[in-house]
Amino acid sequence: MATSRSYKKLLYAWEGWHNAAGNPLRAKYQEFVTLSNEAYQMDGFEDTGSYWRSWYDSTTFEDDLEHLYNQLEPLYLNLHAFVRRKLYDRYGPKYINLKGPIPAHLLGNMWAQQWNNIYDLMVPYPDKPNLDVTSAMVNQGWNATHMFRVSEEFFTSLGLLEMPPEFWEKSMLEKPADGREVVCHASAWDFYNRKDFRSPHPAQAMLLSPRRIKQCTTVTMEQLFTVHHEMGHVQYYLQYKDQPVSFRGGANPGFHEAIGDVLSLSVSTPSHLQKIGLLSSAVEDEESNINYLLKMALEKIAFLPFGYLIDQWRWNVFSGRTPPSRYNYDWWYLR
Ligand SMILES: [Zn+2]
Repeated sequence: MATSRSYKKLLYAWEGWHNAAGNPLRAKYQEFVTLSNEAYQMDGFEDTGSYWRSWYDSTTFEDDLEHLYNQLEPLYLNLHAFVRRKLYDRYGPKYINLKGPIPAHLLGNMWAQQWNNIYDLMVPYPDKPNLDVTSAMVNQGWNATHMFRVSEEFFTSLGLLEMPPEFWEKSMLEKPADGREVVCHASAWDFYNRKDFRSPHPAQAMLLSPRRIKQCTTVTMEQLFTVHHEMGHVQYYLQYKDQPVSFRGGANPGFHEAIGDVLSLSVSTPSHLQKIGLLSSAVEDEESNINYLLKMALEKIAFLPFGYLIDQWRWNVFSGRTPPSRYNYDWWYLR
């Protein structure tokens, strides 16, 4: 999805994946919704969605989000129109309607949730240094461990904590070579098994509370940012490790996600990429800035309506407003 530019090949992959993953999941998801609702109703919530929203301590949370989204929507629509025009230039009028929606399989990602992988088709000023440093990483022989070390160095350079030794020993930073099937979706884990808060031996206490990452890291710029995002979770775990267990959690789930992203945003600036030797020159002229801002927008602005629709869809599913017979219909209605 990231690298092919063939309309038909992409469509084939997109349809194949949706048929193989979506259809078999419908019945299982329905069962998950029933069980999950049952559990949260026992805790006094209306349904799972209402439990999830309760983390945010706002009685008007749904309206708050809609209000925020409405403020951002004009920027999203500008980006959408720009991307559609560039795709029209590439794929032509047979495939792209300049007044209609964009076919989801052309945006460089299976869920069309972030569009940074088609930056090469979008770049406004192609003569400026390439801000996608994937090839520089490959040419310099970067590997998964090096990517995590570079990320750790960034955290410690800000005065934050370094990773404990067992993080390096016990994390899964690459897809196992022995052919075992693993879930490759990157995640960070707090094992919460610290036994004694008063331990006079901090080193030993640390061994009892491993925090790890699971990621099938490949050497790309996108994955380098994912590394920083996941390291953000682990850094947060480490920062609150001495709290009583009920305080060992993020202020809310959104806050936890934001920690690593704040860091990745700083890492992806041209001047930092130059500092770690991935960009030969970080020209700070207006054209380079526009290239950089567009690249950011493809990643962050494109994601906003997607992230919002995921929550709207799931809230409706949990509350029963979207019954199983309309799972697919309501998804595409929101989309
Ligand atoms: Zn995360």
